[in-house]
Amino acid sequence: ADKKPRLRTIQKSTKLDNVCYDIRGPVMARARQMEEEGQRIIKLNIGNPAPFGFEAPEEIVQDVILNLPNASGYSDSKGLFAARKAIMHETQRKGIAGVTIDDIIVGNGVSELIVMAMQALLNNGDEVLVPAPDYPLWTAAVSLGGGKPRHYLCDEGAGWLPDLDDIRAKITPSTRAIVIINPNNPTGALYPTELLREILEIARQHQLIVYADEIYDKVLFDGVVHTSIASLADDLLIVTFNGLSKNYRACGYRSGWLVVSGDKRHAKDYLEGLNMLASMRLCSNVPGQHAIQTALGGYQSINDLVAPSGRLTRQRDLAHELLTLIPGVSCVKPKAAMYLFPRLDPKLYPIHDDQKFILNLLEEERVLVVQGTGFNWPRPDHLRVVFLPHEEDLTEAIGRMSRFLDRQRAH
Ligand code: PLP
Repeated sequence: ADKKPRLRTIQKSTKLDNVCYDIRGPVMARARQMEEEGQRIIKLNIGNPAPFGFEAPEEIVQDVILNLPNASGYSDSKGLFAARKAIMHETQRKGIAGVTIDDIIVGNGVSELIVMAMQALLNNGDEVLVPAPDYPLWTAAVSLGGGKPRHYLCDEGAGWLPDLDDIRAKITPSTRAIVIINPNNPTGALYPTELLREILEIARQHQLIVYADEIYDKVLFDGVVHTSIASLADDLLIVTFNGLSKNYRACGYRSGWLVVSGDKRHAKDYLEGLNMLASMRLCSNVPGQHAIQTALGGYQSINDLVAPSGRLTRQRDLAHELLTLIPGVSCVKPKAAMYLFPRLDPKLYPIHDDQKFILNLLEEERVLVVQGTGFNWPRPDHLRVVFLPHEEDLTEAIGRMSRFLDRQRAH
């Protein structure tokens, strides 16, 4: 009589059926378990600069501390006025015309805003063009919003630039928008102005919204210059994303923003939807917002890190050199960001399941990377390697990868 009722199994929502985010997936869970067992793992898997001794600029840390006593209340849903004003000035510096304070929404990192931008836009079955490889949150956010990600290929042979013909081929009557990640994660590619103009022409012809994720726009090597796609057109709706996580090494502050530019007249309804979603989450982390004005207006210490002898440049060069010395490994040298996306020649490394492959690398050599298919790359022949660790750790880690790959070839 006192038999307990059988509990119904609790299943995740079918909304998550096609949602996938592998960067923090099962292999990372295994790495955590190994660390709990006392093993030391070299992590080349996450673009989080702080654990590798890349500190946020002291002046922004001080600003957050100084403002903490005033940061315990909610802010405006779109963000603090001073922060948005500083972002507005930054968009002017980047040549983006016609942006007012009202066109800016501050969020808990770019991540929150990507999800919001997709939730506000998509009806079931709407399609969004997303690059392959991509930063996988974009694909996941489109799927979560009920949309269908359509991946356009970036061409490794052309320095990982988007293949315009493939973009054209993937457009259907349901295509609503195109996502551009420039500078790119995971490839480190930087897109030339001419290519951006051609992408705009395609967007114009097919009335697509352009979503530009430019979170690495100051992490630039070899003196290259970044062009914001929004600075090249004022006749389309363009939503540009940026934040403090990478340019200012302050991922943990969860401070990012989106800027709406171009012709907003025909997008009133969408923008209302976006504002409503911003109000539903009340506001973004207020202490993190206090860092924005000082970050954007202060000393740009990122320039020291990416100078020819700067720490990030040295690490990029070393990691690239060591990886490409391994037989069958080739890699486009990144012009920006903090990642390498090497290719493993399938003739030497006939990998069928790249997640299993990186799990074996972890178990055998205690080095953690992310499999290329985790970035929606269609074939199991790439890895993403973060070059944030110090030179000694990179040398050790890539040495271990090299040993592992030697054994794979021998089999
Ligand atoms: N967009 C890209 C291309 C990224 O690489 C990342 C983080 O790695 C993000 C967005 C998320 O950044 P945030 O910390 O602002 O949420």
